[in-house]
Amino acid sequence: LADRLQQALGEVRSRGRLSEEDVERALRQVRLALLEADVDFRVVKEFTARVRERAIGTQVLASVNPAHQVVKVVADELTELLGGTTSEFVLPKARPAVVVLAGLQGSGKTTAAAKLARYLRAERGLDVALAACDLQRPAAVEQLVLLGGRADCTVYERGTDATPVEVAGWALGRAREEQRDVLIVDTAGRLHVDDQLMAELQAITERVRPHRVLLVLDAMTGQDAVNVATAFAERAPFDGLVLTKLDGDARGGAALSVKAVTGRPIVFASTGERLEEFELFHPDRVAQRILGMGDVVTLVERAQRELDERKAAELERKMRRAELTLEDFLEQLRQIRKMGPLKSLLGMLPGMGSQLAALDLDERELDRVEAIILSMTPEERRRPEIIDASRRRRIARGSGTSPQQVAQLVKQFQAMRRLMRDLSRGRLGALGSLLGR
Ligand code: GDP
Ligand code: MG
Repeated sequence: LADRLQQALGEVRSRGRLSEEDVERALRQVRLALLEADVDFRVVKEFTARVRERAIGTQVLASVNPAHQVVKVVADELTELLGGTTSEFVLPKARPAVVVLAGLQGSGKTTAAAKLARYLRAERGLDVALAACDLQRPAAVEQLVLLGGRADCTVYERGTDATPVEVAGWALGRAREEQRDVLIVDTAGRLHVDDQLMAELQAITERVRPHRVLLVLDAMTGQDAVNVATAFAERAPFDGLVLTKLDGDARGGAALSVKAVTGRPIVFASTGERLEEFELFHPDRVAQRILGMGDVVTLVERAQRELDERKAAELERKMRRAELTLEDFLEQLRQIRKMGPLKSLLGMLPGMGSQLAALDLDERELDRVEAIILSMTPEERRRPEIIDASRRRRIARGSGTSPQQVAQLVKQFQAMRRLMRDLSRGRLGALGSLLGR
């Protein structure tokens, strides 16, 4: 789809002016591309009509670069088609909030259950439990136990010697007792939508009264996925969609039609087999990716996350060997400040947990710390022990602080470095001395 649209719009792009004929020609390409990508023909028809209307309507305004304008209109309308704004996945205050995952066999329910569990735990700090209610095959329970373990979440399972409804009810009871924040129910699928599948799903939802039902769809199956969604919408209502296997060479048709056809938003996108490959579905970004503008935002975010992870690992290694320098300290300080309201620099460091979260750090003091480190030479940052009285005076002047403040920072840093080494060697006793400073 991307290639096709790109080609179609490339022609328009390369030309300076835009005639109504150009719009029509571009639209013909867009229409073909969408149909080829397996987008429902009614959706295609409506889509091109809307683009035409807007493209022609904006032509006068677009005298600067009309081609650009058409691309923009197509991007906007694609975004609209994909759901407009990102649907936040809001859970009710109820404890546990119950989420049921439904869908055909192989659509990716079990994987999505574990991914959602990991997501809610990692991104929102929720205590999530999973219920293994796919009793079609014994392996399904094992699979959830395995994936749930990887997601660091509890899995309620009773093998296959009870009915799915019994297991669901029992799991809900346990989730209540254990005061879990969220219970995610993995259900069985069938190869096709049939009465048995719907009956089982209905029985489970009647038993656990879920706050959210998510329908899991395999994006690779194209138009079939749309048919499945339509069938479910009629017989077993759901609140939102999870599109899986978006990493495959899916032609994108499913993503482009399901929202329009079912009226339900795509909430999550699953883009790989790893548990982390799961994110909120961003219509605007996907629309831009389809258009070939490149999904800059996602790329930047991903790169940032990976960079941060690498830096954290490096830092942990240095801490263990007590090789930490003021340079690292500054780097870490900035990274953490960048992350928003500052709670505690130390609390974020690996191996140092909630004990330090209570420690209040003053923002202004941090500005001062930054200024002081910035006024040091690289050598001084690496080996603060060389900072003598004359260097101290120079640093103080450069940073608008006093030599005493510089001395204090160096002293604190050295104490911290010692503490970290001790901590990473498991001697937690030193913690008190720092907190007492
Ligand atoms: P279920 O039968 O609906 O529970 O589906 P599963 O969760 O067992 O998934 C079926 C297969 O699809 C498994 O091999 C998964 O690893 C794979 N799978 C699920 N989600 C994704 C995804 O987003 N991308 C890829 N590449 N594979 C996926
Ligand atoms: Mg399964």
